[in-house]
Amino acid sequence: MILLRKNLIDGEWLGEAGSRNINPSNTNDVVGEYASAGPEEAKQAIAAAKAAFPAWSRSGPLARHAVLKKASDEIMARKDEIGRALAREEGKTLAEGVAETIRAAQIFDFFAGETLRLSGELVPSVRPGVGVELTREGVGVVGIITPWNFPIAIPAWKIAPALAYGNTIVFKPAELVPESAWTIVDILHRAGLPKGVLNLVMGKGSVVGQAMLDSPDINAISFTGSVGTGKRVAAASVEHMRKFQLEMGGKNPFVVLDDADLAVAIDCAINGAYFSTGQRCTASSRLIVTEGIHDRFVEAMKERLDKLVIGDALDGKTQIGPVVDQTQLKQDEDYIAIGRQEGAELAFGGDRLERGTPGFYLQPALFVGSNNAMRISREEIFGPVANVIRVKDYDEALAVANDTPFGLTSGICTTSLKHATHFKRNSEAGMVMVNLPTAGVDFHVAFGGRKGSSYGSREQGRYAMEFYTTVKTAYTFAG
Ligand code: NAD
Repeated sequence: MILLRKNLIDGEWLGEAGSRNINPSNTNDVVGEYASAGPEEAKQAIAAAKAAFPAWSRSGPLARHAVLKKASDEIMARKDEIGRALAREEGKTLAEGVAETIRAAQIFDFFAGETLRLSGELVPSVRPGVGVELTREGVGVVGIITPWNFPIAIPAWKIAPALAYGNTIVFKPAELVPESAWTIVDILHRAGLPKGVLNLVMGKGSVVGQAMLDSPDINAISFTGSVGTGKRVAAASVEHMRKFQLEMGGKNPFVVLDDADLAVAIDCAINGAYFSTGQRCTASSRLIVTEGIHDRFVEAMKERLDKLVIGDALDGKTQIGPVVDQTQLKQDEDYIAIGRQEGAELAFGGDRLERGTPGFYLQPALFVGSNNAMRISREEIFGPVANVIRVKDYDEALAVANDTPFGLTSGICTTSLKHATHFKRNSEAGMVMVNLPTAGVDFHVAFGGRKGSSYGSREQGRYAMEFYTTVKTAYTFAG
């Protein structure tokens, strides 16, 4: 019997089977069937969240702390089971699935703590006898729209602060990964959230997502996904004069200088470019390498790529799982063809792989002889495809790294304090890594980018407060 998961609207599980969730490691394996909301259900969910806001926003910190802490504890206790389900529906490896689940638990724990640390300011007015209080209040109904590549961590880093600061939620996850979304909502619902505080509306972006964008009753939208959809969120939000926050694509550079420790450079580049099948917004898809180390770097990359184990995400030996679905696989292969047409040399991989089960397996691809004007250097591929750009020296490396419409992460591998310090200061990215992969960040500090990668205030850590609250300034004359 196939599992059926429903939407949560005003505290009730509702809906019939609307879409099937397929395992990308084995397309014969159906993870489950999921309700698919239409515009009417979206409206009901928004109305429920609106009705629940006054009471939830005035609930004491202990009520919010209890739900968030309980959710964190359950996610941590079930990390292996949830991590496995995540790997099964998304295709990242078991180790990555479990690590992402642990991260979600840590995020809920962090924001449980934040509920007990809310504070304001009391300042004297310029008018004698008057006091001024600055406090933060929840924004209202928050729409949360998430992508498929971090099925539990991204929902967690939006839902946890939204609840902690007293907002109510309409959550629309990506169609490809409903199981992780459903699980997190089920856990929070059972942890004791009042009805209507958190609503789940699984379904198509063009239908249920669009209904959210078009609603005047959603007060803020936190979106992570592609640039195209992000622009729609922005335009609709301006129309309704609502707050919005966008986290979008990347074309992140990883610079390797002549003085780098080659082993560190290879570890960082392999991890940053190919782990999670290259499907991370923080992936380093442009490897910018100075000429003194270039040939050794390319040889060592090819050697390491040849040893990577690509296979079923649920096999403990697998290091790189399948691509998430047929559409993404086609996009990856199209870009590999584009790179060749543009004159880059495919130094490794790029072929489809056959495994024991039908799945979307692709050999990681490495281009050399590329330049920064090529489409493979400028457009986000979002797969296990990276290209090496050869440069003369540090100055050229920095210029090439910054020459991109995006600005999420960047990295440099060097043993020079001078270059590392200069790069941290002058890289046009929201997050900069020195001798570390461009992907892989802490859960308790600000996350976000610049230029075409992000819009609005930062996510995660204490910085999340900026988006999920609004400041009130109150004046009192006490006589
Ligand atoms: P996507 O834009 O296709 O979808 C994202 C979400 O938007 C999904 O839930 C989708 O259903 C919804 N959506 C689609 N059309 C909509 C509409 N008209 N109205 C409202 N919602 C709509 O992105 P994706 O393919 O799921 O994710 C991949 C992208 O996400 C990549 O570009 C990647 O870089 C980006 N991403 C960015 C970050 C970051 O923090 N910067 C993190 C992860 C992923």
